[in-house]
Amino acid sequence: MIPSNCAVCGKIYLKISKPVCPDCARKELETVKRIRQYLKPKENRNAPIAQISKDLDIPIVYIEYLIKEKYFDVTRYPSMMYACKKCGAAITAGAYCMNCINELQQEIQQAKKPTQSDASKKGYDEDGDEHFYRSRL
Ligand SMILES: [Zn+2]
Ligand SMILES: [Zn+2]
Repeated sequence: MIPSNCAVCGKIYLKISKPVCPDCARKELETVKRIRQYLKPKENRNAPIAQISKDLDIPIVYIEYLIKEKYFDVTRYPSMMYACKKCGAAITAGAYCMNCINELQQEIQQAKKPTQSDASKKGYDEDGDEHFYRSRL
């Protein structure tokens, strides 16, 4: 748990998984209701998150969090998306879009390969290093 500022009221609290303090978390459903209410009229249906944030005075990070928690059905509220951390594509869950997830997975796999094939040799080297550092201490 890391002390962190609540995204809504700014109070310092111990962060577990929510971007808001327990007091504001208790009002979570109210906040969701307010946003749903706001999106009801046709002219607001496609309001971008930045506008919702401004009009309702709810921090963008918190709206993004609520989307991640699946409070909004994207088929009904198509604007309830936020940007992929890597490429900025519109997404509704997680931190990255499918493309970036695939790319990241490939990168991880490629990064793994050389170390795995070197593993047997490496054991020796690491031992050597350990002796080297010990003798220097
Ligand atoms: Zn708060
Ligand atoms: Zn992406």
